[in-house]
Amino acid sequence: MDCIFCQISKGEIPAEIIYHDKLFVVFKDIKPKARLHFLIVPRRHIVSINDLKLKDAMLAGKMILLARKIARDQGVADSGYQLHFNVGRGAGQLVEHLHLHFMAA
Ligand code: 5GP
Ligand code: ZN
Repeated sequence: MDCIFCQISKGEIPAEIIYHDKLFVVFKDIKPKARLHFLIVPRRHIVSINDLKLKDAMLAGKMILLARKIARDQGVADSGYQLHFNVGRGAGQLVEHLHLHFMAA
């Protein structure tokens, strides 16, 4: 499968990875729209929020808690940050592998 985020997760193509664990990889967006712009990506191939099942509730929750950790680590927890999901082509989702945009000025 030629999914770019699966390939980044497996280390098959390069990215500026700032955090990784068993479930997630977090890397810099290649075309940043803010001073800090990261993508929080589950390693499992899930297309979008539309494809989440109830059994994925823990994964979805952990994704948000990971965003909070990134905010603390980057020193923007208090100054503020944006979390953003694009869901579907019509909303501008170009990469069909679930990702949470993390942005901070
Ligand atoms: P979407 O529009 O699907 O919500 O966001 C996809 C994001 O992935 C875009 O902001 C785009 O710049 C970023 N992106 C696309 N391809 C790559 C890549 O190969 N490497 C990195 N680091 N980011 C990518
Ligand atoms: Zn994928």
